[in-house]
Amino acid sequence: MASQEIETLASALARLPGLGPRSARRAVLWLVKRRETALRQIVDALIEVQDKLVECPVCGNVDTQAPCGICADPRRDQRSLCVVEDVADLWALDRAKLFTGRYHVLGGRLSAMDGVRPEDLTIAALLARVEGGGIDEIVLAMNATLEGQTTAHYIAERLEGFPVRLTQLAHGLPVGGELDYLDEGTLAQALRARRPVG
Ligand SMILES: [Zn+2]
Repeated sequence: MASQEIETLASALARLPGLGPRSARRAVLWLVKRRETALRQIVDALIEVQDKLVECPVCGNVDTQAPCGICADPRRDQRSLCVVEDVADLWALDRAKLFTGRYHVLGGRLSAMDGVRPEDLTIAALLARVEGGGIDEIVLAMNATLEGQTTAHYIAERLEGFPVRLTQLAHGLPVGGELDYLDEGTLAQALRARRPVG
């Protein structure tokens, strides 16, 4: 039976995505054995980001600066915008290093079941960015799930009439696939073979 403090730490870690109670306990034990090295490093890193993390007011990315490093990078192609559901998808796509434009994070996907409506996502902000001009291409990089595709379809409709080229990730993405779980080669291929919407 572990102490209350260790139990508290284990149950806090167990809430992390991909970790259950059992892995959390193993992680705690691993950390306790490396008090002076790994544990200290993790604590320092957590404290370091705790106060610095901000949501980018332009694209919705999470970074330690606002606008985020991607929006602030002058080498990024301003005429190309990639729309993703979540920050994790942005990070996954950016790891693939094939897309040189900027991003727009929706903050989720439309879902009748979960009661997520267009106004719950940053769709209005996306339309405002497009209305602002200077964007030639919009890549709809929603997940290959039913809700992801419904969201892409809805956005494509809202963007009708704007002088932008709408593309979407190539099919060949596994159905039901969440971008974040795909390897970078698959993602890069889906981006490279992106095709017009409709
Ligand atoms: Zn940004």
